[in-house]
Amino acid sequence: MMKCPVCGEDCVQYAHELLDTLDTVFSPCPACTPRMLDKQMPPPADLGIMEACTCEKRFIDNVFLEIYTLMVQEGLLNRGSPLREAGIPLVHPGFAMNQPPYLPRNSLLLLSRHVDKKTAEQLMREVPELRGVVKCGEFTPGAVDVDLVTPPRNYELLAGCDVRADIFYTQHSPVVLYKQQSLTHIEFPRGYDPKIVSVSVQLRHAMPRVFVDASSGVGTLGILGAISGVRHVILNDAWYAAAYWSAYNVEVNREHLLVEPVRFLKEYRELQEHPVMEEPLKVAEAEGAQKIEVYQGDYRRLGAVIPKEKPLLTVIDLFRKSDPEANRRILQEWRERVGGEAFIP
Ligand SMILES: [Zn+2]
Ligand SMILES: [Zn+2]
Repeated sequence: MMKCPVCGEDCVQYAHELLDTLDTVFSPCPACTPRMLDKQMPPPADLGIMEACTCEKRFIDNVFLEIYTLMVQEGLLNRGSPLREAGIPLVHPGFAMNQPPYLPRNSLLLLSRHVDKKTAEQLMREVPELRGVVKCGEFTPGAVDVDLVTPPRNYELLAGCDVRADIFYTQHSPVVLYKQQSLTHIEFPRGYDPKIVSVSVQLRHAMPRVFVDASSGVGTLGILGAISGVRHVILNDAWYAAAYWSAYNVEVNREHLLVEPVRFLKEYRELQEHPVMEEPLKVAEAEGAQKIEVYQGDYRRLGAVIPKEKPLLTVIDLFRKSDPEANRRILQEWRERVGGEAFIP
């Protein structure tokens, strides 16, 4: 059993436990009733709150109407605000869906610019579908500056827990990626992800013995490399939350990997003391027929910890894509300093 590093409860599951639920988690029962609302408009004034069905699920728009109504009552929104002003709804788990979800308990994270702590706590008491409430802003959370000059900014968790997972499909098994949402940029998984396809092609082509995900975020591409069977995978990110969740997600998806349980060398709270690192610090490792290591550091200093074995393939997935000239320089520098094949997806 894994404990959540944010709330200490059982709000995280191993990959198969979560994947086994996907067929039904957001599906209606025969008695469930949808009620579509226009998000661009204020909801009609006489519209009552619809309670959850006897199956305990509720159509997402109806959950959102209750959240909106409470925020209006608390003076955080005007009665004339469009419904979508209440915030961004992120479901857990997030994956490509054909129709809007019917939400079970504890499946929705609300990100809102307008919410305050008191109302967030009230929302958590009154809206059972909520998992957590985060105050967001007009910026991207986390370490988005490649040069590590601009300090990272976070959203603020006001109530509940903001750990949730997105699911990405690969040609092997689906990958489950947990994250603490107040510290991570928002992704909306679609059924087809060009970046995953392009990295899969590179992996097949290069057949590396060592694969480096130099700017790993929560670990998507590094874990893809490990699931593809690369013997030695190194994940790295300068931002502590990215490095930590990369390691966590290796453990979550370990059933598809040939390694023993991940050994965490640092706890989440320890890493918080140095949110951005330059010298690479090993935060976790897992060994077996494969070897997986996770570092927190500036990717430009990662060469020191990369073994000399070849073939070596490196993916440098920087958050802000720079111009082609800068990309060429980044790759050129990497090849000179570290060697092997390198690409920016
Ligand atoms: Zn939690
Ligand atoms: Zn129902």
